[in-house]
Amino acid sequence: MGKAQEMSELVKDLIRGNEAVAVGIATRETLAGGPPSTDLAYVLPEGRSAVVFALPLDQEAIERFLKKEDMASVNNDNRRVNVMVSGMAQTLSDFLDMKGYKSVPASANAVYRKDTPRGPFDEKPPLSHRYLAVRSGVGYFGLSGNVIMPKYGAATILASVVTEAELIPTDPLPAEDSYCDGCRLCMASCASGMMSGDEKSTVTLGGVDFEYAKRLSYNRCEYVCGGFSGLHQSGKWSTWSPARFPIPEKDEEFLGALRNAVKPYVKRPKTNYGLYHPLVPGDLLQFTCGHCQFLCHPEKTVRQERFKMITGGGVVVQNEDGSLEAVSPEEAARRLSTMSPERRALYEK
Ligand code: SF4
Ligand code: SF4
Repeated sequence: MGKAQEMSELVKDLIRGNEAVAVGIATRETLAGGPPSTDLAYVLPEGRSAVVFALPLDQEAIERFLKKEDMASVNNDNRRVNVMVSGMAQTLSDFLDMKGYKSVPASANAVYRKDTPRGPFDEKPPLSHRYLAVRSGVGYFGLSGNVIMPKYGAATILASVVTEAELIPTDPLPAEDSYCDGCRLCMASCASGMMSGDEKSTVTLGGVDFEYAKRLSYNRCEYVCGGFSGLHQSGKWSTWSPARFPIPEKDEEFLGALRNAVKPYVKRPKTNYGLYHPLVPGDLLQFTCGHCQFLCHPEKTVRQERFKMITGGGVVVQNEDGSLEAVSPEEAARRLSTMSPERRALYEK
Protein backbone atom coordinates (compact mmCIF):
# COMPACT_ATOMS: atom_id res chain seq x y z
CA MET A 1 0.00 0.00 0.00
CA GLY A 2 1.42 3.40 -0.99
CA LYS A 3 1.80 6.23 1.51
CA ALA A 4 -1.22 8.20 0.20
CA GLN A 5 -3.40 5.08 0.38
CA GLU A 6 -2.16 4.27 3.87
CA MET A 7 -2.83 7.79 5.15
CA SER A 8 -6.28 7.82 3.51
CA GLU A 9 -7.28 4.60 5.28
CA LEU A 10 -5.92 5.89 8.58
CA VAL A 11 -7.91 9.12 8.28
CA LYS A 12 -11.13 7.24 7.45
CA ASP A 13 -10.60 4.84 10.38
CA LEU A 14 -10.06 7.74 12.75
CA ILE A 15 -13.27 9.44 11.64
CA ARG A 16 -15.39 6.27 11.59
CA GLY A 17 -14.10 5.39 15.05
CA ASN A 18 -15.65 8.64 16.27
CA GLU A 19 -19.14 7.49 15.25
CA ALA A 20 -19.30 9.24 11.90
CA VAL A 21 -21.86 7.53 9.68
CA ALA A 22 -20.02 8.39 6.46
CA VAL A 23 -16.66 9.80 5.46
CA GLY A 24 -15.31 10.85 2.09
CA ILE A 25 -12.23 12.45 0.58
CA ALA A 26 -12.21 15.19 -2.06
CA THR A 27 -9.12 16.68 -3.68
CA ARG A 28 -8.26 19.79 -5.68
CA GLU A 29 -8.72 17.67 -8.79
CA THR A 30 -12.13 16.23 -7.90
CA LEU A 31 -13.38 19.69 -6.93
CA ALA A 32 -11.97 21.44 -10.03
CA GLY A 33 -14.42 23.75 -11.76
CA GLY A 34 -16.60 24.10 -8.64
CA PRO A 35 -17.89 27.32 -7.06
CA PRO A 36 -15.65 29.46 -4.79
CA SER A 37 -16.80 27.56 -1.71
CA THR A 38 -15.01 24.45 -3.01
CA ASP A 39 -11.62 26.20 -3.18
CA LEU A 40 -9.44 24.36 -0.67
CA ALA A 41 -6.73 27.01 -1.08
CA TYR A 42 -9.04 29.61 0.49
CA VAL A 43 -8.89 27.65 3.73
CA LEU A 44 -5.29 26.46 3.43
CA PRO A 45 -3.08 27.74 0.58
CA GLU A 46 -1.21 24.42 0.38
CA GLY A 47 -4.40 22.37 0.88
CA ARG A 48 -4.49 19.39 -1.47
CA SER A 49 -7.23 17.21 0.00
CA ALA A 50 -10.31 17.53 2.19
CA VAL A 51 -11.89 14.95 4.45
CA VAL A 52 -15.66 15.40 4.94
CA PHE A 53 -17.87 13.45 7.31
CA ALA A 54 -21.37 13.29 8.79
CA LEU A 55 -22.96 12.66 12.16
CA PRO A 56 -26.68 11.85 12.41
CA LEU A 57 -29.39 13.79 14.26
CA ASP A 58 -31.91 12.18 16.61
CA GLN A 59 -34.85 10.91 14.53
CA GLU A 60 -37.21 10.58 17.51
CA ALA A 61 -36.59 14.16 18.58
CA ILE A 62 -37.24 15.21 14.98
CA GLU A 63 -40.70 13.64 14.97
CA ARG A 64 -41.69 15.26 18.28
CA PHE A 65 -40.45 18.58 16.86
CA LEU A 66 -42.43 18.19 13.63
CA LYS A 67 -45.59 17.32 15.59
CA LYS A 68 -44.99 20.54 17.55
CA GLU A 69 -44.87 18.64 20.81
CA ASP A 70 -41.27 19.32 21.79
CA MET A 71 -39.04 22.10 20.49
CA ALA A 72 -36.23 21.73 23.02
CA SER A 73 -34.91 18.25 22.14
CA VAL A 74 -34.14 19.06 18.49
CA ASN A 75 -32.43 22.30 19.51
CA ASN A 76 -30.33 20.55 22.13
CA ASP A 77 -29.49 17.63 19.84
CA ASN A 78 -28.55 19.97 17.01
CA ARG A 79 -26.24 21.89 19.28
CA ARG A 80 -24.66 18.71 20.63
CA VAL A 81 -24.09 17.19 17.18
CA ASN A 82 -22.69 20.45 15.80
CA VAL A 83 -20.17 20.56 18.64
CA MET A 84 -19.29 16.88 18.19
CA VAL A 85 -18.72 17.04 14.45
CA SER A 86 -16.73 20.29 14.67
CA GLY A 87 -14.71 18.71 17.49
CA MET A 88 -13.99 15.74 15.25
CA ALA A 89 -12.69 18.15 12.61
CA GLN A 90 -10.37 19.71 15.16
CA THR A 91 -9.19 16.27 16.34
CA LEU A 92 -8.40 15.05 12.83
CA SER A 93 -6.73 18.33 11.93
CA ASP A 94 -4.49 18.14 15.02
CA PHE A 95 -3.65 14.52 14.26
CA LEU A 96 -2.60 15.29 10.69
CA ASP A 97 -0.69 18.35 11.84
CA MET A 98 1.26 16.24 14.35
CA LYS A 99 2.00 13.77 11.54
CA GLY A 100 3.66 16.62 9.66
CA TYR A 101 0.82 17.72 7.34
CA LYS A 102 -0.44 21.25 7.79
CA SER A 103 -4.24 21.03 8.21
CA VAL A 104 -7.19 23.29 9.05
CA PRO A 105 -10.56 22.22 10.50
CA ALA A 106 -13.72 23.60 8.88
CA SER A 107 -16.45 23.76 11.54
CA ALA A 108 -19.93 22.46 10.83
CA ASN A 109 -21.85 25.74 10.81
CA ALA A 110 -22.00 29.42 11.76
CA VAL A 111 -18.57 30.37 10.35
CA TYR A 112 -18.51 32.80 7.43
CA ARG A 113 -16.01 34.59 5.21
CA LYS A 114 -15.11 38.05 6.43
CA ASP A 115 -13.73 39.36 3.14
CA THR A 116 -17.04 39.78 1.26
CA PRO A 117 -18.89 43.14 0.93
CA ARG A 118 -21.04 42.65 4.07
CA GLY A 119 -18.60 40.31 5.81
CA PRO A 120 -20.20 37.50 7.83
CA PHE A 121 -23.67 38.90 7.03
CA ASP A 122 -23.25 37.62 3.46
CA GLU A 123 -23.18 34.14 5.05
CA LYS A 124 -20.60 32.74 2.62
CA PRO A 125 -18.91 29.77 4.32
CA PRO A 126 -15.16 29.31 3.90
CA LEU A 127 -15.96 25.87 2.49
CA SER A 128 -19.20 24.19 1.44
CA HIS A 129 -19.34 20.83 3.16
CA ARG A 130 -22.26 19.75 1.01
CA TYR A 131 -20.37 20.05 -2.30
CA LEU A 132 -17.48 18.10 -0.82
CA ALA A 133 -19.92 15.52 0.54
CA VAL A 134 -21.69 14.78 -2.74
CA ARG A 135 -18.46 14.68 -4.74
CA SER A 136 -16.81 12.28 -2.33
CA GLY A 137 -19.72 9.87 -1.88
CA VAL A 138 -20.89 10.84 1.60
CA GLY A 139 -24.39 11.43 0.20
CA TYR A 140 -26.45 12.68 -2.74
CA PHE A 141 -27.98 16.03 -3.44
CA GLY A 142 -31.72 15.80 -2.83
CA LEU A 143 -33.96 18.04 -4.90
CA SER A 144 -33.96 20.31 -1.84
CA GLY A 145 -30.22 20.91 -2.23
CA ASN A 146 -29.63 19.20 1.11
CA VAL A 147 -27.25 16.25 1.31
CA ILE A 148 -29.27 13.06 1.71
CA MET A 149 -27.98 9.68 2.81
CA PRO A 150 -29.41 6.19 2.25
CA LYS A 151 -30.05 5.47 5.94
CA TYR A 152 -30.28 8.86 7.64
CA GLY A 153 -32.02 10.98 5.04
CA ALA A 154 -31.07 14.64 5.24
CA ALA A 155 -30.85 14.60 9.04
CA THR A 156 -27.10 14.80 9.46
CA ILE A 157 -24.54 17.50 10.25
CA LEU A 158 -21.36 17.76 8.15
CA ALA A 159 -17.88 19.11 8.84
CA SER A 160 -14.54 18.91 7.02
CA VAL A 161 -10.78 19.13 7.36
CA VAL A 162 -8.50 20.59 4.69
CA THR A 163 -5.00 19.18 4.66
CA GLU A 164 -1.84 19.38 2.64
CA ALA A 165 -1.58 15.59 2.88
CA GLU A 166 -2.05 13.85 -0.42
CA LEU A 167 -5.05 11.56 0.02
CA ILE A 168 -6.87 9.26 -2.38
CA PRO A 169 -10.28 10.69 -3.38
CA THR A 170 -13.43 8.64 -2.93
CA ASP A 171 -16.06 8.37 -5.68
CA PRO A 172 -19.56 9.89 -5.75
CA LEU A 173 -22.42 7.49 -4.96
CA PRO A 174 -24.17 6.11 -8.08
CA ALA A 175 -26.83 8.72 -8.96
CA GLU A 176 -29.38 6.05 -9.91
CA ASP A 177 -29.40 4.71 -6.34
CA SER A 178 -30.54 7.97 -4.74
CA TYR A 179 -33.89 7.69 -2.95
CA CYS A 180 -34.91 11.23 -3.97
CA ASP A 181 -37.93 10.67 -6.22
CA GLY A 182 -38.78 14.35 -6.64
CA CYS A 183 -41.72 14.07 -4.20
CA ARG A 184 -41.41 17.84 -3.56
CA LEU A 185 -42.50 17.53 0.05
CA CYS A 186 -39.39 19.53 0.99
CA MET A 187 -40.79 22.43 -1.02
CA ALA A 188 -44.34 22.00 0.25
CA SER A 189 -43.10 22.13 3.85
CA CYS A 190 -41.06 25.32 3.36
CA ALA A 191 -43.08 28.35 4.41
CA SER A 192 -40.40 30.67 3.00
CA GLY A 193 -40.47 29.36 -0.59
CA MET A 194 -36.72 28.91 -0.58
CA MET A 195 -36.55 26.30 -3.37
CA SER A 196 -37.53 27.11 -6.93
CA GLY A 197 -40.32 24.89 -8.23
CA ASP A 198 -39.18 25.03 -11.83
CA GLU A 199 -35.53 26.09 -12.04
CA LYS A 200 -32.57 23.85 -11.28
CA SER A 201 -28.96 24.59 -10.37
CA THR A 202 -26.19 22.46 -11.78
CA VAL A 203 -22.73 22.36 -10.31
CA THR A 204 -19.80 20.60 -11.97
CA LEU A 205 -17.10 19.23 -9.69
CA GLY A 206 -14.12 17.52 -11.22
CA GLY A 207 -16.06 16.71 -14.38
CA VAL A 208 -19.16 15.32 -12.60
CA ASP A 209 -22.49 17.21 -12.75
CA PHE A 210 -24.81 17.51 -9.74
CA GLU A 211 -28.28 19.01 -9.91
CA TYR A 212 -30.83 20.31 -7.40
CA ALA A 213 -33.63 22.86 -7.20
CA LYS A 214 -32.35 26.41 -7.53
CA ARG A 215 -32.18 28.11 -4.18
CA LEU A 216 -33.80 31.53 -4.06
CA SER A 217 -32.55 34.23 -1.65
CA TYR A 218 -31.07 32.82 1.56
CA ASN A 219 -32.86 35.68 3.34
CA ARG A 220 -35.97 33.54 2.95
CA CYS A 221 -34.62 30.77 5.15
CA GLU A 222 -33.13 33.30 7.55
CA TYR A 223 -36.53 34.96 7.96
CA VAL A 224 -38.44 31.73 8.58
CA CYS A 225 -35.95 29.22 9.98
CA GLY A 226 -34.39 32.01 12.05
CA GLY A 227 -37.78 32.44 13.75
CA PHE A 228 -38.61 35.99 12.59
CA SER A 229 -41.90 34.68 11.20
CA GLY A 230 -43.40 31.24 10.70
CA LEU A 231 -47.04 31.16 9.64
CA HIS A 232 -47.56 29.41 6.30
CA GLN A 233 -49.52 31.46 3.79
CA SER A 234 -52.48 29.06 4.12
CA GLY A 235 -52.77 30.19 7.76
CA LYS A 236 -53.28 26.53 8.73
CA TRP A 237 -49.83 25.58 10.01
CA SER A 238 -46.65 27.20 11.21
CA THR A 239 -43.09 26.53 12.23
CA TRP A 240 -42.19 26.81 15.92
CA SER A 241 -42.09 30.61 15.56
CA PRO A 242 -45.07 32.33 17.18
CA ALA A 243 -44.62 35.31 14.83
CA ARG A 244 -46.95 35.70 11.88
CA PHE A 245 -45.59 38.65 9.97
CA PRO A 246 -46.27 38.40 6.23
CA ILE A 247 -43.93 36.16 4.26
CA PRO A 248 -43.16 38.05 1.04
CA GLU A 249 -43.39 36.62 -2.45
CA LYS A 250 -40.30 38.18 -4.00
CA ASP A 251 -36.66 37.70 -3.04
CA GLU A 252 -35.98 41.45 -2.89
CA GLU A 253 -38.73 41.96 -0.30
CA PHE A 254 -37.18 39.67 2.31
CA LEU A 255 -34.45 42.02 3.51
CA GLY A 256 -37.05 44.70 4.35
CA ALA A 257 -39.26 42.07 6.01
CA LEU A 258 -36.29 40.92 8.10
CA ARG A 259 -35.47 44.49 9.18
CA ASN A 260 -39.09 45.10 10.21
CA ALA A 261 -39.23 41.85 12.15
CA VAL A 262 -36.06 42.39 14.20
CA LYS A 263 -37.53 44.66 16.89
CA PRO A 264 -40.44 42.38 17.79
CA TYR A 265 -38.06 39.40 17.59
CA VAL A 266 -35.77 40.99 20.16
CA LYS A 267 -38.69 41.88 22.46
CA ARG A 268 -40.37 38.46 22.39
CA PRO A 269 -39.57 36.16 25.32
CA LYS A 270 -37.00 33.52 24.33
CA THR A 271 -36.38 29.93 25.33
CA ASN A 272 -33.21 29.29 27.33
CA TYR A 273 -32.03 26.71 24.79
CA GLY A 274 -30.87 27.01 21.21
CA LEU A 275 -27.66 27.26 19.21
CA TYR A 276 -25.19 30.08 19.73
CA HIS A 277 -24.97 32.00 16.47
CA PRO A 278 -22.88 35.14 15.92
CA LEU A 279 -25.37 36.81 13.55
CA VAL A 280 -28.54 36.42 15.58
CA PRO A 281 -29.82 39.23 17.80
CA GLY A 282 -29.24 37.98 21.35
CA ASP A 283 -26.72 35.37 20.09
CA LEU A 284 -28.90 32.34 20.91
CA LEU A 285 -30.70 30.99 17.85
CA GLN A 286 -33.94 29.13 18.49
CA PHE A 287 -34.17 26.62 15.70
CA THR A 288 -37.82 26.83 14.57
CA CYS A 289 -38.04 25.09 11.18
CA GLY A 290 -35.57 22.76 9.43
CA HIS A 291 -38.58 21.15 7.73
CA CYS A 292 -36.81 20.51 4.40
CA GLN A 293 -34.08 18.65 6.24
CA PHE A 294 -36.10 16.84 8.92
CA LEU A 295 -38.90 15.66 6.66
CA CYS A 296 -36.61 14.07 4.08
CA HIS A 297 -36.45 10.45 5.26
CA PRO A 298 -35.37 7.63 2.90
CA GLU A 299 -38.82 6.00 3.20
CA LYS A 300 -41.49 7.81 1.22
CA THR A 301 -44.24 6.80 3.65
CA VAL A 302 -42.26 8.36 6.50
CA ARG A 303 -41.86 11.58 4.47
CA GLN A 304 -45.60 11.64 3.89
CA GLU A 305 -46.32 11.05 7.59
CA ARG A 306 -43.90 13.81 8.54
CA PHE A 307 -45.54 16.20 6.11
CA LYS A 308 -48.85 15.48 7.86
CA MET A 309 -47.19 16.12 11.23
CA ILE A 310 -46.02 19.54 10.00
CA THR A 311 -49.27 20.60 8.37
CA GLY A 312 -51.63 18.95 10.86
CA GLY A 313 -49.92 20.09 14.05
CA GLY A 314 -51.56 23.50 14.17
CA VAL A 315 -49.95 26.88 14.67
CA VAL A 316 -47.68 28.02 17.45
CA VAL A 317 -48.60 30.80 19.87
CA GLN A 318 -46.65 32.20 22.75
CA ASN A 319 -48.20 32.29 26.20
CA GLU A 320 -47.70 35.17 28.58
CA ASP A 321 -45.05 33.22 30.52
CA GLY A 322 -43.02 32.85 27.28
CA SER A 323 -43.86 29.19 26.69
CA LEU A 324 -44.74 28.08 23.16
CA GLU A 325 -47.85 26.03 22.41
CA ALA A 326 -49.38 24.61 19.23
CA VAL A 327 -53.12 25.22 18.91
CA SER A 328 -55.69 25.23 16.11
CA PRO A 329 -55.61 28.21 13.72
CA GLU A 330 -58.96 29.39 15.13
CA GLU A 331 -57.75 29.21 18.72
CA ALA A 332 -54.57 31.09 17.77
CA ALA A 333 -56.65 33.88 16.20
CA ARG A 334 -58.83 34.03 19.34
CA ARG A 335 -55.80 34.28 21.63
CA LEU A 336 -54.18 36.99 19.55
CA SER A 337 -57.43 38.99 19.54
CA THR A 338 -57.42 39.09 23.35
CA MET A 339 -53.86 40.47 23.59
CA SER A 340 -53.11 44.12 24.29
CA PRO A 341 -52.06 46.04 21.12
CA GLU A 342 -48.46 46.25 22.43
CA ARG A 343 -48.22 42.52 23.03
CA ARG A 344 -49.99 41.60 19.81
CA ALA A 345 -47.49 43.74 17.84
CA LEU A 346 -44.77 41.28 18.90
CA TYR A 347 -46.46 38.63 16.74
CA GLU A 348 -48.37 40.23 13.89
CA LYS A 349 -48.79 43.43 11.97
S1 SF4 B 1 -38.36 15.69 0.23
FE1 SF4 B 1 -38.65 14.45 -1.64
S2 SF4 B 1 -38.04 15.79 -3.35
FE2 SF4 B 1 -37.29 16.75 -1.47
S3 SF4 B 1 -35.17 16.05 -1.36
FE3 SF4 B 1 -36.41 14.65 -0.12
S4 SF4 B 1 -36.98 12.95 -1.48
FE4 SF4 B 1 -36.22 14.64 -2.76
S1 SF4 C 1 -35.10 25.32 6.95
FE1 SF4 C 1 -37.27 25.84 6.73
S2 SF4 C 1 -37.30 27.90 5.85
FE2 SF4 C 1 -35.25 27.09 5.58
S3 SF4 C 1 -35.28 26.23 3.52
FE3 SF4 C 1 -35.74 24.55 4.94
S4 SF4 C 1 -37.96 24.48 5.08
FE4 SF4 C 1 -37.40 26.44 4.15
